[in-house]
Amino acid sequence: MSDTVERHEFGAEVGRLLDLVVHALYSDREIFLRELVANAADAMDRRRFEALTDQASALPPDAKVRIVPDKAARTLTLSDAGIGMTKAELAQNLGTIARSGTRAFSQALGDAKNAADIKPEDKPSLIGQFGVGFYSAFMVADRVTVTSRRAGSEEAWTWASEGQGSYTLEPATRAEPGTDIVLHLKADADEYLESYRLDHVVRKWADHITVPIAITGEDG
Ligand code: ADP
Ligand code: MG
Repeated sequence: MSDTVERHEFGAEVGRLLDLVVHALYSDREIFLRELVANAADAMDRRRFEALTDQASALPPDAKVRIVPDKAARTLTLSDAGIGMTKAELAQNLGTIARSGTRAFSQALGDAKNAADIKPEDKPSLIGQFGVGFYSAFMVADRVTVTSRRAGSEEAWTWASEGQGSYTLEPATRAEPGTDIVLHLKADADEYLESYRLDHVVRKWADHITVPIAITGEDG
């Protein structure tokens, strides 16, 4: 490991949440795409809002959420031209459960310690009401990297984790502000390399998203 890579431990709450999300919601795992697209769209809305008072931050006119499957690499990448995250924001937002949605979800899980503690009939309302959040990426990926550059900053950072108790942070480069989330898909998650499958899930769950969404592999 290079000496610029920092390793951080997840808090105990994150560990519990990750375990529950990954094991309890397996049959609903396609919702990871809703969560990641919603985050990308939120980030683009936030950048648009910030640009009202700060020209440096203006969103490019053709800004989209891009969903790019790569069969050779077995990765699925979501890229946005949103507000991005600083190093501190990556650690705070993706390393703790301080965030609103994730905290509400964690509270709704109550005392559940194992996937088996969550009643099947409760799952749809848990998912629908609270949103599972970023950690749902680990339902389909065994490694996730997030490279982000905050609008207004020249620096980019990569957060990376296997969802197993720790994550790393290291300096990166990114030409423009925004975020790339690379999912290294689990062996049984090949379906998310197919653009028709991605299109189906996006239509089903992300219909209300007002930001344009482009899936590579469609229309040539
Ligand atoms: P929630 O969306 O309910 O806050 P999430 O777990 O989905 O919870 O996301 C946690 C936080 O991580 C978000 O609130 C946001 O600050 C940050 N985040 C996630 N994805 C992105 C992204 N693509 N661009 C910028 N920030 C993001
Ligand atoms: Mg979210």
